[in-house]
This record gives sequence, structure tokens and C-alpha cells, in this order.
Amino acid sequence: AQAASVLAEDPKRRVLKDVFGFDDFRPGQADVMDALLAGRHVLAVMPTGAGKSLCYQVPALVLGGLTIVVSPLVALMQDQVAALRLAGVAADTINSSIDREANVAAWRRVAAGQTRLLYLAPERLMTERMLDALARLDVSLIAVDEAHCISQWGPAFRREYEDLSRLRGIFPNVPIIALTATADESTRTDIEARLFAERVETLVLGFDRPNIKLGIEAKQDSKRQLLRFVERHPGRSGIVYCLSRKKTEEMAAFLEKNGVTALAYHAGMSKDARDANQNAFMTLSGVVMVATIAFGMGIDKPDVAYVFHTDMPGSLEAYYQEIGRAGRDGREAEAHMLFGLGDIRMRRLFIDDEDAPPEHKRRSHGRLDTLIGYCETAQCRRQVLLGYFGEEASPCGNCDTCLDQAPRADGGMEARIILAAMAQSGERFGAGHVIDILLGHETEKILARNHQRLASFGSGLAHKKDFWLSLIRQLVAGGFLSPDPGGHGGLAIAEKGHALGRGEMPFHYRVEVRSRALRGKMRSA
Ligand code: ADP
Ligand code: ZN
Repeated sequence: AQAASVLAEDPKRRVLKDVFGFDDFRPGQADVMDALLAGRHVLAVMPTGAGKSLCYQVPALVLGGLTIVVSPLVALMQDQVAALRLAGVAADTINSSIDREANVAAWRRVAAGQTRLLYLAPERLMTERMLDALARLDVSLIAVDEAHCISQWGPAFRREYEDLSRLRGIFPNVPIIALTATADESTRTDIEARLFAERVETLVLGFDRPNIKLGIEAKQDSKRQLLRFVERHPGRSGIVYCLSRKKTEEMAAFLEKNGVTALAYHAGMSKDARDANQNAFMTLSGVVMVATIAFGMGIDKPDVAYVFHTDMPGSLEAYYQEIGRAGRDGREAEAHMLFGLGDIRMRRLFIDDEDAPPEHKRRSHGRLDTLIGYCETAQCRRQVLLGYFGEEASPCGNCDTCLDQAPRADGGMEARIILAAMAQSGERFGAGHVIDILLGHETEKILARNHQRLASFGSGLAHKKDFWLSLIRQLVAGGFLSPDPGGHGGLAIAEKGHALGRGEMPFHYRVEVRSRALRGKMRSA
């Protein structure tokens, strides 16, 4: 009886159950829906697979009228429409890949008020004709999928998305929901500024995967380290990510030689060979797939016990997405990464060699720094990871820094030296310049700004450049400093950093990984 009354009182729960057949919301879905149903704009940041579509599909049915869904890919739209129709929902799409007649028929249904959800590509929606016609209908909700495409700073900018900033003016009373899995702060701010003039509720949801144990190890002999790790999970399926195609084959052969069933997967193999290996991995248990990132899209194998990175990925987002393939069954799983100086050098090279504008490269380097900060942190890794995605968490007890061992040192004093130099120079400079101040380097930039006169000038001579660089990255990873606050580069002191400056907060840094594996020159951001 209680269940029945809940359903009666909560129409979104009824739709969830009756139309989609689900008993419960996934974390965050209900919050997003409630905000939309209350007429507020929402930016929903959720990882892939978390269930973003339902966040607007359910409200669309609760509200009635017409919901417009903007989506960049025709194939995606077709899939969604087909799935909705199977569930008995009146969904339509008008797009360039279907013939004129079908588009006309779809439009008739829309105009007659029969269609609940209409999927459109942005360039199709933003024509004057379409907008005029839609403005005369009862539009109750607008959903912008893959909303990061609107941001020039995002990894997938699309010019057609820019025009969507006019939507809020054309449909002033219609709540808009923007959805993305891209967490990066500047992209998020950019989406908010472009899509929503007034207040928008930003909800970051469901990024935690508590059953995945997180660990990072200094890279010494990656083959041996991999073998030792794999042998701790006998008979289980796992994914091993390598940077190069050649390395996937070498590693797989090495595992095979040592009695582990291992297969390689990369884009250089024939389609048949790839399909055969993927098939074996999906259907058998206990197969280790040694792959480049070409492997993984759409792979939903619940019993993957671990994801092992023999090389550092390109960003924290990529890392998060890749480790997310482990432990989907909710059982204990592990994400383990090897990390060394060579990885940093290699990734820097990749970015520098890219054919991209300098601004884009600078951001890519910044993203890389965030990942390095995560590798070097002495804080709970999950806290750092979730913090990056905007979620707060307490120490998890299921990562190497929570569980071990790694020698740490009190870095409060050193952190305050950095904070002082930043405060004195106006919190506008990157790590390289701050370190030049600390080390008393009379560079052109220092002299041009008279920074040789700052009280902090030369205050960090007790340590070398590497030390300061690592500390700054760890401060960023710990949320004490914010990278790229105004979108113009540079570092700023975050609220937590001010507390640290006042001595109200401790700061510990990791000593070991740096001194063993990372000795040598590092580039500053
Ligand atoms: P995203 O767009 O975030 O990548 P989708 O919207 O495609 O994710 O949803 C991923 C899967 O999760 C889909 O198969 C969907 O049916 C399922 N799903 C979404 N919400 C729920 C829920 N509340 N209960 C059970 N399954 C759900
Ligand atoms: Zn932890």
C-alpha cells in the first residue's frame, strides 16, 4: 500500500516504472528531474552510462507537451527514437538521413501535438523556419545532449552548437537541461555562460565507483610489474591498456609465455582478428585483453576484475572512463597504473606535436598536469578524482594512499611559501613563473614585472625546481589551488588554500614516487 501511494504522489516514479520498467532512480536522476519539473534550468554532469537520457525523458512524459532534444549525431538520435518507440513513447526525429516524406510525416505528428519527444540536430533546430514553427507549439522542455560541444575549450567543439545560445531568448519560459560527461571546470563554466543567462542548477552526479580499488606504482620494469599484478588475480578477466600497438603485442606475448591467457587488441589489426579477440574476451572468463584505447567503447562486460595501465593516460577524464570498465558487477575490482617520468615526456610530446592552436595545447598541458597531480598526490586518490569531477568525498579506505605505506611529509611550511609567492604576484601566473620567483630566477618575465622585488623572491632556495613543481601539482590535486580560474591560464588560491595559508588545514605530500621514478627534468605548465 505504501508503494502504491508513493507512485500516486510522485508522477516521475510512476513514469519510470510504467514506461521504462525501472523500480529505482540511479543516483542523481531524481534530483535532476525535480529541478526540471520545478521549472529550473539544469546542467547535469554525469559519467557515460549513468543514465543521462532518462533525466529528460521522464520529465518530458510527466510534463506532456513537446520536448525538444538536441543531439549531435544522427545515429544516436535514431537509436534513441527507436528505443523510445519500443517503450510506447511517441518520439520522432527530423533529420537529413531520412527521406523527405518521412520528415514531413514526422512534422505532421509534431504539429498535431502527438509527439512527446522530438530529436533534432542543432543546425536543423536553429533555422528560422523551424524555430518559428516550434514557437507556436506547446514546448515544455529543451534538452541539449553532449552539451560540451558548445564550448570552444571542450574536446569536441562544434560550431553548430554555438547558435544554441539563442534558445533561452526564443523560449524564455521553457526549462533547458544541458547534459555532458565532461567534467573539466572551464568547459562547465563555458556551457553555463553560453546556454543559460540566468541561474542554472549544476548537478554533478554519480561519479563514484567505490568497489574499484585505486593504485599507482612507480614504473620500474613494466612487464614484471604487470605479471606480478595479473598473478594476484588468477582466472579473472582484466583489461591492460598500453600506449602503443607494438607494446600490446609484446605484453600479451609475455603474459602468454608466463601461463596467462592474454590477447592483444589495437586498431592496426585486421577487423577479423580484432573481432575474434574481442569475442573471446567477452564470452570466456579469465582472458586478459592487452589493448590500446581503441578497445573499450561500448564494452559492457560486468565481471572485469581490473584495469591495468602500463602507461599514463592523457587526462583524468580518460583515466576515469577507462578504469570504469572494471567492476561493473559491483564486486571488488582494481585499477592500477604504472607511472614514470617517460610517460610525462611522451604525453607532452603528443600534445606539442598535435596540429592545434596554442590555446588548445595549453589546455591539454593543463589537463595533463591535473592527471600528474593525481598520480603524485599523498591524499586519498578517490577524494582527488571525485573532487575533480566536483563531488566531495571523505577518505575512501580503498586506495593505495588510504591503505599504505607511502612515506609522506608535512608540507605545510613549503605550501605557505608557495601561497605567499602567489599572493604577492597577484595569483595570475602559472607554476613555472611562481617557481622562478621562489628560486630567485631573474628571467625576462620576472624583471618585466618587477617580481625580483617581491618578499618571496628567492624564498624557496631550500629545494629544487622539481620539488616545487610536484608540490604545486599536489596542491592543485588537493583542491588548494585552482588551475586556470578565469580561462586565461595561471593558478589561483582556492578557499581551501586560504585555510591552509592561515594554518587551519594540514598538507602532506608524497615523497617516494617522486624521488625514485621522477628524478630529472620536468616541464612546468
Ligand atoms: P548515458 O547517456 O548517461 O551514457 P544512458 O542514458 O544511455 O546513459 O543509460 C545507460 C543505461 O542505463 C541504459 O541502458 C538505461 O536504460 C539504463 N538506466 C538508466 N536509468 C536507469 C534506472 N533508473 N534504472 C535502471 N537502468 C537505468
Ligand atoms: Zn582513498
